[in-house]
Amino acid sequence: MIIEQILERWRVLWALGHAQRVLAWDLETYMPEGGVKARALARAELAQLAQKLMLDEQFVKLVERAEEERDLTDFERGVVRVIKRELKFYQRVPPEVVKEFAKVTSEAFAAWKNAKERAKFELFKPHLDKILQLARTVAEKLGYEEHPYDALLDLHEEGLTSRDVDAVFSVLEPGIRRLLDKLTDWPRSHPLEEVPYERASAEAAVREVLELLGYPRDRFRIDVSPHPFTIGIAQPYDVRITVRYRGVDFREPLFSALHEYGHALYELNIDEALAFTPVGDGVSLGIHESQSRFVENVVGRSREFVEKIFPMLRRHFTFLDRYTVDDLYQYFNLVRPSLIRTEADEVTYNLHILLRYRLEKLMLAGEVETSQLPELWSQEMERLLGLKPKNDAEGVLQDIHWAHGSIGYFPTYTLGNVIAAMLYFKLNVREAVARGEFGKIREFLREKIHKWGAVYPPKELLVRNFGEVYDGSYLIRYLEEKF
Ligand code: MG
Repeated sequence: MIIEQILERWRVLWALGHAQRVLAWDLETYMPEGGVKARALARAELAQLAQKLMLDEQFVKLVERAEEERDLTDFERGVVRVIKRELKFYQRVPPEVVKEFAKVTSEAFAAWKNAKERAKFELFKPHLDKILQLARTVAEKLGYEEHPYDALLDLHEEGLTSRDVDAVFSVLEPGIRRLLDKLTDWPRSHPLEEVPYERASAEAAVREVLELLGYPRDRFRIDVSPHPFTIGIAQPYDVRITVRYRGVDFREPLFSALHEYGHALYELNIDEALAFTPVGDGVSLGIHESQSRFVENVVGRSREFVEKIFPMLRRHFTFLDRYTVDDLYQYFNLVRPSLIRTEADEVTYNLHILLRYRLEKLMLAGEVETSQLPELWSQEMERLLGLKPKNDAEGVLQDIHWAHGSIGYFPTYTLGNVIAAMLYFKLNVREAVARGEFGKIREFLREKIHKWGAVYPPKELLVRNFGEVYDGSYLIRYLEEKF
């Protein structure tokens, strides 16, 4: 009864969120530029309204009463857990801090863009200092057991601690470096990287490849935007992805579409019974990223998948006449240590995250000054990948995350890669791909991850369905088998 009252009130919040997501999608895709100011105003007002409804005294009381109920179902416990997490943030972090955070990060974003264009970290440094100061305040207000960074990790990935992340990297770092030492003969570049393509051909290819993997036509859309993303407008009824077409190197639209499709599939498969409730969404960033990485890398970059889509790609890209399946497999699986995280391959990617994780933890604890960052970045880059950035733009300024105030976000990427590799060992993926049994793969993901939405916290979901949590050795075993 009490849960029904909570859900009834929640539906209003859901509706506001639904409107916000349509506005966000439109902003990124088709809105004329002149609409920017009005859209920002409308979204800020709606966000304030949602916050007011969330913190409504009667609503909070209902949730607190529900928490004391003894015979809740798993679904009901999930509902209370997810709302309590959101409330905790607003109840513990004072509104002045939240407001200051919004102000500081919007200024920081503009400063970061400018600093990156000029490759001058000093222009961004004062903003980063303010963000760190606020992040420390947030961590103290939220509370933690061992390290202030844990409070920020938990904001991005429920229950994740620096102890978990350290354990994962203690396996990944030596494993990846060992592998890199052995991969000196592996192809680092391929002529196809330079070959231009027609946008219409790429769009048709992307559509056909995703159709092969399978999606519901009446609940899914593919559009175009400058930065590819997935958005669940109303899970599981309306989920959309976007792709970017730059006109050269067709790997980019193909694999970013596969990545976003992995995110979308998660939201399309959430149990309908969870729709319009607090648990009718993906449970966390790390679990979400595991789904995108699984489709993009484990399935999409496998030999079997490349063989499967080769004839299809040949029909859309006539320049492939001169290339073989081997060529394509190499082109999709180059291993080339790079300065830029977003250009990194499967082998080196997590070293980029390791570097950021270490620096964030040190900065937050005040163990390094931000003035030392460019130098530390450069040293660590050289140690991990043997490369030295020529300037701050290709070093410490490359990512948007710190300007957004997202500290403690990066580790969720590695978590995604680790879980995706675990899934590789839990299902005979390559055999299923070779046989074209994509329905079987979708069903496996649906049963083990998707349908549960956010009913269980991430660690509990993994323990229930796989009997274990984050284990970096799966990723090393997967990479060693492949490379
Ligand atoms: Mg992603």
